[in-house]
Amino acid sequence: MSNAEDSPHLPIEDFRKYGYQLVDWLADYFSNIDEERILPDIAPGDIRAMLPETAPDQAESMDDILADLDRIVMPGMAHWQHPGWFAFFPSGVSPVSVLGEFVAAGLATQGMMWSTAPSPTEIENTVLDWLVDLLGLPPAWRIDTGPGGGVLQMSASDSTHLSLAIARHHAVEAGYATDSLVAYCSEQAHSSIEKGARIAGFRHIRSIQVDESFALDVDALKEQVDLDLAAGLKPTWICSAVGTTSTTAMDPIRQIADIAQSIGMWHHADAAYAGSAMICPEFRHLQDGVELVDSYTFNPHKWLLTNFDCSVFWAADRSKLTDALSIQPAYLKNEASGNPAAIDYRDWHVPLGRRFRALKLWFVLRSYGAEKLREFVRSHVVWAEDLENRLAGDERFEIIAPRPLALVCFRHVGGNDVTKSLAEQINASGTAYVTPSLINETQFIRVSIGSTWTEQRHVDALWELIDLNGVPS
Ligand code: PLP
Repeated sequence: MSNAEDSPHLPIEDFRKYGYQLVDWLADYFSNIDEERILPDIAPGDIRAMLPETAPDQAESMDDILADLDRIVMPGMAHWQHPGWFAFFPSGVSPVSVLGEFVAAGLATQGMMWSTAPSPTEIENTVLDWLVDLLGLPPAWRIDTGPGGGVLQMSASDSTHLSLAIARHHAVEAGYATDSLVAYCSEQAHSSIEKGARIAGFRHIRSIQVDESFALDVDALKEQVDLDLAAGLKPTWICSAVGTTSTTAMDPIRQIADIAQSIGMWHHADAAYAGSAMICPEFRHLQDGVELVDSYTFNPHKWLLTNFDCSVFWAADRSKLTDALSIQPAYLKNEASGNPAAIDYRDWHVPLGRRFRALKLWFVLRSYGAEKLREFVRSHVVWAEDLENRLAGDERFEIIAPRPLALVCFRHVGGNDVTKSLAEQINASGTAYVTPSLINETQFIRVSIGSTWTEQRHVDALWELIDLNGVPS
């Protein structure tokens, strides 16, 4: 590689120097993350005001650029990696996944076909096959045996949209009118379901009522499906949530599959958050019947120590996927095309180009090993159970939903305003961050335990904040 004076690129020696400097910077960030205030104290527009209106005409020094990490970037960061982050669901990361991401960025490969990226493709094939076994999923989802197979996507929303697009394609191919197709999910399903269905062109999207545990009510589903059939519509796609966003409610996959299979509906499972927990055999009963679904998604970028973006999509029969998406222009044909061992991932999702996402996941699975990953997930579930017990044992608080994993949902018995104000006080502390939410007009607080750097003491500190700010009932 040219290192000539007139090269426009950062000299390789400087790349080395600044690369080491940035590793130090991130190592310090990880080491001192609990000293940061979780949410920044800024107003919209504050960061923009520090940035020039136009891009630089002349090259700036790397020293100046890196100094702006501390001067401009950090003051506007919400610290998702703070150990007191209990909001939403966790945004996974680990030092190892960052290293994998770094190398993947430098290799800058385009993994659209086996021939353009042999090792990224085969590592992805292998890592997703490993995960089939690690999570106790149906062996037929392994790419090496088939007929199923897995592919990495950017997000669970993409995976869900993809399954909707495939189902729609096959229904239309079978002769159904596009405007007769119906998609179903529970009223507690993630917003990405409705969004994906809209983008995929579904005109009818049914939100089915839930039972007292906030899981899809199968009788209500059956009733709606019968109504739609009687109206001449075509029930086409249904989602089972393996852990809803609001409360981690688990839809009854096996019963939903009975209905889906009897009328040929595509059945998709959205396990965006909860899927990672399936690495522990004791949680697999939560997705009983999973072998009956047509597609499944989960996000290692939530709870499996891998940084965003990294979402897995499995199809139980991958030919359904490739039949729907494969287009063969002359410029993409090559000698390996058609060889079953040479997967062309361009036929497995919307984009053509794709990056080497599997590298960080490969690093994570190898560097931790399944046993340590299980310990990681289990520790969060134990701490969540402990927090739940403390809340349940205090007459000021009430648990509002079952807790299958590491999300605790509670309210103050004083009502909505008191609960909301408690959440605000916890968040104002700057040391813990929870999500206030609403279900059936009931205000509640979600505590999601799963951040990489969270320890039992951080959950204890959260309890102290709750205890301190929870006014007497
Ligand atoms: N599905 C569920 C159940 C979720 O909880 C979430 C996000 O929290 C999503 C889908 C969307 O995930 P993504 O951000 O990967 O699209």
